[in-house]
Amino acid sequence: MNEDRLTIPEPLNTDAEFDRSLRPKLLDEFVGQERLVENLRIFIQAAVERGESLDHCLFYGPPGLGKTTLAYVMAEELGVGIRCTSGPVLDRPGDLAGLLTNLQPRDVLFIDEIHRLSHNVEEYLYPAMEDYRLDLVIDQGPAARTVQLNLPQFTLIGATTRAGLLTSPLRARFGVTGRLDYYTPEELQTIVTRSAVKLKIPLEEDGAAEIARRSRGTPRIANRLLRRIRDIAQVRGKGVIDSAMADHALNLLEVDALGLDQMDKRILDSVMKKYRGGPVGLKTLAITVGEDAQTIEELYEPYLIRQGFLERTAKGRCATVYAYEYFGQNIPQSVNGQQNIL
Ligand code: ADP
Repeated sequence: MNEDRLTIPEPLNTDAEFDRSLRPKLLDEFVGQERLVENLRIFIQAAVERGESLDHCLFYGPPGLGKTTLAYVMAEELGVGIRCTSGPVLDRPGDLAGLLTNLQPRDVLFIDEIHRLSHNVEEYLYPAMEDYRLDLVIDQGPAARTVQLNLPQFTLIGATTRAGLLTSPLRARFGVTGRLDYYTPEELQTIVTRSAVKLKIPLEEDGAAEIARRSRGTPRIANRLLRRIRDIAQVRGKGVIDSAMADHALNLLEVDALGLDQMDKRILDSVMKKYRGGPVGLKTLAITVGEDAQTIEELYEPYLIRQGFLERTAKGRCATVYAYEYFGQNIPQSVNGQQNIL
């Protein structure tokens, strides 16, 4: 892939650079998500053999599971360039036109947070996706006219944490749709072990297993914890991360045995104690814990729901009996509006 055609998706900061430095480059190095990866391998090979662009792809799932990584890996496997942007950044059709007209044949255009595209831009995207054509309106008022631009064949890869918010016309224009799921501890152990090798961090097998178990099924969290634990191991220990050092460091970082952090605990604590198990509305909950509602919905809730601590009901969020048991709290008379039968 032509490196100087890469565009940088987010402002350079240490976390983004760190994420990038640890990204696998090829599908073989991409751990987990096996069925999706297997299918993509076939579609990529077929497109390369035909010399055509790959169908447009939509990836969805919680943050940090590898949607952006997969887009880069696919461009690499296709042997084409990639341009990156995100839904909220593309607020004018002109921005989209600028990106599209600069693409080389078969290139990948990656749009992160594609559910946040403005309606206006989305309308421009339809003919571009379908017929590789851009209908630009030039001038305003009576002088306004439409100019048609032909685009090279390209592959749009969209990523979203909220597939439900995509309009159906947009969703229908993706030929390939893939959901990324949380990783198993074994997969995360492989990821964190490889990251330690790249970063030259002495990480023992049992230390990697401990980090993997407590990373909420998310590679980005596993890699970030590794970095923090490295600091603690350097200052408090001899630099080597074994299971005892990982446990000590994770306790210092207030990450519990299931990977729940302070905010997870605050959310559950509020639902259990303040709202007697719920239901409580998302906005109220967000104000109570001092976090943005969208962050709670996209980042924290999916894992808490998956672990069986929280339920999303039509009336609001509810704590489960398991949440009370896990935190050793007394179960109120009714949980989730149902009479407690324990
Ligand atoms: P998303 O776009 O879904 O928010 P990213 O693609 O930015 O997630 O992934 C975050 C980080 O996690 C990446 O920088 C990469 O280091 C790591 N990562 C994600 N998925 C994998 C994977 N399958 N194998 C190895 N590392 C991964």
